[in-house]
Order: sequence, then structure tokens, then C-alpha cells
Amino acid sequence: MSSVETILSQIPGDSLTGLRQADRLWQSLRENTAPTPLVIETTGETLGNADWDVVVAGGTLGIFIGAALVQQGWRVAVIERLMLRGRDQEWNISRPELNVLAELQLLTPEEIAQAIGTEYNPVRIQFHGGKPFWVRDVLNIGVAPTILLETLKTRFLAAGGKLLEKTPFARAVIHPDGVTVATTNPNIAPGKAGGAGGAAAYVSHQEGGSSGPTLKTRLFIDAMGHFSPIVRQARQGQKPDGVCLVVGTCAQGFPNNDTGDLMVSITPVQNYCQYFWEAFPARDGRTTYLFTYADTHPDRPSLEALFADYFRLLPEYQNVSLDQLEFRRALFGFFPSYRQSPLRSPWDRLIFVGDSSALQSPLSFGGFGALLRHLPRLSAGIHEALEKDLLSQRPLAQLMPYQPNISVTWLFQRTMSVGMTQKIDPNGINNLLSGVFDCMEQLGEPVMKPFLQDKVQFGGLFQTLMLMSVQRPELGLKIMPQVGPLPLVDWMQHGFNLGIYSLLDRFGSVVAPSVSHLSPVAQYYFHRWLEGWKYGSGGDGSDIVISNNNEILS
Ligand SMILES: Cc1cc2nc3c(=O)[nH]c(=O)nc-3n(C[C@H](O)[C@H](O)[C@H](O)COP(=O)(O)OP(=O)(O)OC[C@H]3O[C@@H](n4cnc5c(N)ncnc54)[C@H](O)[C@@H]3O)c2cc1C
Repeated sequence: MSSVETILSQIPGDSLTGLRQADRLWQSLRENTAPTPLVIETTGETLGNADWDVVVAGGTLGIFIGAALVQQGWRVAVIERLMLRGRDQEWNISRPELNVLAELQLLTPEEIAQAIGTEYNPVRIQFHGGKPFWVRDVLNIGVAPTILLETLKTRFLAAGGKLLEKTPFARAVIHPDGVTVATTNPNIAPGKAGGAGGAAAYVSHQEGGSSGPTLKTRLFIDAMGHFSPIVRQARQGQKPDGVCLVVGTCAQGFPNNDTGDLMVSITPVQNYCQYFWEAFPARDGRTTYLFTYADTHPDRPSLEALFADYFRLLPEYQNVSLDQLEFRRALFGFFPSYRQSPLRSPWDRLIFVGDSSALQSPLSFGGFGALLRHLPRLSAGIHEALEKDLLSQRPLAQLMPYQPNISVTWLFQRTMSVGMTQKIDPNGINNLLSGVFDCMEQLGEPVMKPFLQDKVQFGGLFQTLMLMSVQRPELGLKIMPQVGPLPLVDWMQHGFNLGIYSLLDRFGSVVAPSVSHLSPVAQYYFHRWLEGWKYGSGGDGSDIVISNNNEILS
């Protein structure tokens, strides 16, 4: 038996089967063999009266947007394939990001406090052979998804929302005035397989079953994650441009468990992969992850092979022998990312929320964090679209704006990965990252923190590049052959746009109060532009907020 088979077979919950199921999906993605589903159809026939304003498919992150909308008086139904229950493993997040739930009055500060399982500081960033960098208050809170989702579910139901559990989405027909959402009533409810990051969702969709309830709604939200059949239809079988592979465990027995690691490497490039590590105190042990950025070349390693490397390197990384550890959970998943993001629906009356939307950075595997960041904007924007009946493809696309600050991170992902035929200095990625973080540290927290929180800002990026070109010009020169000319040109374009968006964001703050004379439709578009500039320049969390009454609050 391999180390993976031996250890995973000791963990309750049949993690090995879940891992292999996820690996089959990862293989089908690499080989591009998965069929493109046809689950959305359109018709010219009208629907008549809708029973719901919003139907959300997928409850894990869908319940957040569902709760925000039902609280604003909309008739909302959430359909969930399984029972709505978050995973046992904590979501890591920062406190201000979590406070959004209180600001939107979805949860009280006491309810939020109950869901926080761990809080730790500082967190370390360090690359093989380089010095450590320490930051505070970034991803330093572990939230228990089970408690968070249970509380939100109670709120959602109390506010009049309808939750249909064990009710998988089957297909939808888009009419000019609404959407018919058909569900499946599975004969055998499928079980959730490990932490496969949505792999189970994909598999169960193939299983089918007799038909379940049909819902008629004005707007349909797909919150079924990365492997949503609707996403695969919308992307027409397109292969992801990049992927982040993650394996790890939560275990007890570590000698030190007070601080966290945000991004640490202990090896040079091996097997065409630069391995990074993450570690956090958890409620019942310590979570450690090994992750790597890669393309979807057919020869990329399986998650099981990555797990073997994880168990081989963990003792060196955490200075602990495997025999000392008592493994509680195996954690694994992979996060596809597409340059063409966020995903704009090609259909009327349909939008994406959560991982399906691809709003998050290609560097993160924290779709929960991205959802919380965008929740105020999405909740106000969807409310305004419903109120003004602006539910066709064009106005809804404004809710998924271009974000140059996320697009620039594509190059970062590229610099941290190695092509299957590329020959690069095995310690080149570590040296580059050490150099970049050294410059950011010199420039201070206002530069470093936004970068680590998916909020890259033009000022910080520009200062870092300037400092690097003075102190470590050789690093920039080494990147060029590794990433190639086209991605560099593309990146410069997004970097330029980031500067423009920062200016537009300032301009927006000045002109925002004078738009009340515009027509309701023009106001809707203007509000979305303001938000697009703000979020796209990494300036969210400050200044302009569009309230639920469509007022601009400063
Ligand atoms: C190992 C690992 C570690 C992670 N760590 C973090 C972290 O520290 N911080 C963080 O912010 N995020 C983290 N994440 C990511 C986070 O878990 C995801 O971003 C989040 O789960 C995305 O939620 P989602 O609802 O968009 O998609 P999913 O989690 O894929 O959920 C999709 C939902 O839709 C349901 N569904 C699927 N198909 C159907 C169907 N046909 N009908 C109805 N319902 C359906 C599923 O049952 C599920 O409830 C981690 C993920 C993994 C795998």
C-alpha cells in the first residue's frame, strides 16, 4: 500500500474514494473528455406569472445571496442537491471580510463570533532559501462553515425563503419573461465525497433520477460552483487556462500550532511544479495544505501523486514525524481558472454567484472570501435589477464587471508555474518571490496587504515594480523568457487599465452625488460602472456604497 492509501484509509469518511473521484474529474479536464452538457434552453414562449423572484441553484454559497435578497423582500427559493451543510474544515478569512455579514445585517456580531473557530497571528510568507516575512490579520480567522450555514439557513427561512434540499437542478428553460427551473428527485441521494471541491457535484449530475419540483422564477442564479453544468455549457467545453491543485490534511499532534503560514516553499521546482505550503491552527488540530499552480497539460500529476509528495515533505515542512500525527480529515480539490473571467451569462435572466462566477483571483482557492467581498455589491445590484426589471443579458452582465486588478494576477500565476517543456532555474520562482516580497515589505503594509487580499492596487503595484527595477533588475529580466512576450503585453494592458480604473474611481466619487436626475435605467448602469471602477481598482471596502434603496452612500 502507498503512503496515501495507508493514511487516507485510516481517516473516517472514505477519503480515498473521494480523492479518486476528484482525480477522475481532474483527468477528464486535462484530457478534455467531459461532454458539454445542454441544460439551458431558450424559448420565445412567455411564461406568465412567476412564483419566485429568484431561484438559486446550489446552497453552499448560494444561501448567502439568497439570504441577502430575501431580507430585501424578494421571493427566493434555494435548491440544493444535498442537505445544506457546510464542510467540517474551516474557511480561512480575515475579520473585516467577515464583518460584511454584520454590515448587511445577515448575521449579528454574536452569531459571527460563534462561527469563528480559531484566530491567530501573525502569518508567515517565506520562500526556499529566503528570509521570512510576517503579516498580521490576513486570512487569520478560521470560520466553521457548518455553524455559519446553519445560522444563515435559519435566518433565510425565518425571512420567508424556501429551501429545497436533496433537490438537484436538472435543466432550465429561459422564456422572455421568466425561467422554468426543472429539478431531479434523486432515487438515491448521493453522498458528499471528501473535500473534492465540487467533484461530487459533477458526478451526481450525471446520475439523474425521476423529476422533482419545477419552479417558475424571474431570475435564476447559478451557485453550483466551478463544475456547474451551466458553467460548462456557457464555456462550451473550453479548457481552463490554469489550475490550482490543493491537497492537505487536518491533524493533531503538531508541536507548534500558534501561527499560520500563508505561502511557504521548502523546495525548488520539481516535477515541473513549484510546491507551496499553507498551514493554520484549526478547531481540532492543524490544517496543512500543499498547493501548486499549473496548466492543464495531460501529463500533470494526479491529486493522489501530489498527496504522496505531501506526505513525503510534510515532516520536513512542519518538523514532525508522520507517526506523531493523528489525521482527522483529508482535504483536496482543484480550482480551474479562466482568463475570460468573470463569467458573463450568454443568456437573459441568469447570473453566476460564488465559484461558478469566477470572480475570484486565479491565485486563490478562497471563493468564500471573494463572495463576501462582492456580496454588498451583488446584493444591491441584483435588488436594483429586480426592482427595475432589468433582467436581460446586457444589464445583468454589468454585475460581472471586468476587474483589471484580478486580471493582472494572471501574470503572477504564470510566474509561479512552469510549463511541461520549460527549462527554468529550479530556484528561480523562489528567488523572484523573495525579491518581490522584500520590496513590498520595504514599502509597508498598505502595499503588501491589498496584494494578499485579492485587492491589488495600482499605486502599490507601480511602487513595487519601480523598487524592483532599482534593487533587483535581474529578476524582471529573468521573468521575460519564462512567461513569454504575449502574456507580458497582455499584463501591461491590464496594468494600464488598473491605472485608468483608479482614476475613474476617484472621478466616480466626485460625480456620484449628481446623478439623481438620470432616468432609473441610466442610474442602474451608472451604479454598476461606479462599482466596477471601485472593485476593479482594488478600492472596495471604502467610499462609495450603493444602498439597497439605490442611494449612493459615501
Ligand atoms: C481543500 C479546500 C480548501 C479551501 N479553503 C478555503 C478557505 O480557506 N477559504 C475560502 O474562502 N475558501 C476555501 N475553499 C473554497 C471554498 O470551499 C469554495 O470557494 C466554496 O465552497 C465555493 O462554494 P460554491 O458554493 O460556489 O461551490 P461549491 O463548494 O462547489 O458548492 C456548490 C454547491 O452547489 C451544490 N450543487 C452542485 N450541483 C448541484 C445541482 N445539480 N443542483 C443543486 N445543487 C447543486 C453543491 O451541493 C454545493 O452546495 C477551499 C476549498 C477546498 C476544496
